[in-house]
Amino acid sequence: MNVSDRAACIALDRSDPLGPLRERFALPPGLIYLDGNSLGPPATGSADRARAFVEEEWGPHLVGGWNVDGWLDLPLRLGARVAPLVGAHPDEVVVCDSTSVNLYKLLHAACALRPDRRVIVAADDDFPTDRYLVDAVATQRGCSVRWVDPAVLSPADLAAAAVFVCSHVHYRTARLHDMAGLTARCHAAGALALWDVSHSVGALPVALDACAVDLAVGCTYKFLNGGPGAPAFAYVARAHHDALANPIAGWLGHAAPFAFESAYRPSPGVGRLVAGTPSVLAFAALGAALDAFTGVDLSACAHKSARLSTVFTARIAAALGDELTGVSPTDPNERGSHVALRHAAGYPIVQALIDRGVICDFREPDVLRFGFAPLYLRYVDAFDAAEILIDVMRSGAWRAPRFAERAAVT
Ligand SMILES: *Cc1c(COP(=O)(O)O)cnc(C)c1O
Repeated sequence: MNVSDRAACIALDRSDPLGPLRERFALPPGLIYLDGNSLGPPATGSADRARAFVEEEWGPHLVGGWNVDGWLDLPLRLGARVAPLVGAHPDEVVVCDSTSVNLYKLLHAACALRPDRRVIVAADDDFPTDRYLVDAVATQRGCSVRWVDPAVLSPADLAAAAVFVCSHVHYRTARLHDMAGLTARCHAAGALALWDVSHSVGALPVALDACAVDLAVGCTYKFLNGGPGAPAFAYVARAHHDALANPIAGWLGHAAPFAFESAYRPSPGVGRLVAGTPSVLAFAALGAALDAFTGVDLSACAHKSARLSTVFTARIAAALGDELTGVSPTDPNERGSHVALRHAAGYPIVQALIDRGVICDFREPDVLRFGFAPLYLRYVDAFDAAEILIDVMRSGAWRAPRFAERAAVT
């Protein structure tokens, strides 16, 4: 693959079996969108589906929609649609709440499943919400936390652990962790494994059942393109269905919500993880987003995103040397679907790129993130984005004072 050649990238696009999938997305013209790892674009059907929900379900049926349109079952029906994307049985996934809330529920549930063990082992430097919730749940349950580097997780780390918590792909560095190996290590030590697949689902194969994972959470607004704040999902291996307790014992996780019983009785299976009334309008957009995955081979996605990011990083390294330092693993098999580069002026450089139509993001303290979502990006996009970054660096365009002004979301 001659990555210094734009024509070669165009040829790659022509023969790309995933190329036609781009038509399933409504992308604004003239932009190179390298931030699908933060917020995916709408699918072409998203707008119609949201409108149809209002005009054909909610509008005409009003409260009757809960019955005639089957809204109550949507957390499980959508869960069954997410299941193949994470290598799970259809009855092991439920869609509800945010990733943070699901993590809270599953952390509590994991500790309750291992009551004689008083330690939560968690990946240091993980996504902040994961770290905050590990600390909070440990305090609530009187447990201690052991922060570890997952790459060197040892049996001694896990000796007293109820649960080990880790992101499959690290949000900043894109490091891909060995889900099968680390889960096996947990089980050998008597601990449960809880994975956060927010940064891998929809971009690469995830095999929760095959890796014997106990519990998992994931996000649907990144590579799954469900829309800002789209409801997240939770996975519970069948082996834990009967014993799992939801610490937020809300009425819609009850076995018979409309019996209005005085005491809580959990619904069988993962349905008990639902707490309160979900956002049915948000489910409509998520349904359209999941349609865009019909027939998609996630191994081919992983292969393509590795090649896209390689086109980009090879071009940057050839032109800029080590002016921008690589943060992600250099072996594409060891990283997820984005790459991170480091520069002391990361923030203004990212703003200058956005100004030139390359949408990427900045993560404190000095990291520039470039996501290579394989469903809608072309090789020529990776090439052009690299050329624009090279130009921004060589021209010093990022030094313009307006690029230093901070927005609330970086
Ligand atoms: C995006 C992401 C989240 C998001 O959590 P929300 O509750 O949806 O805001 C959580 N964990 C990880 C690892 C993520 O990448």
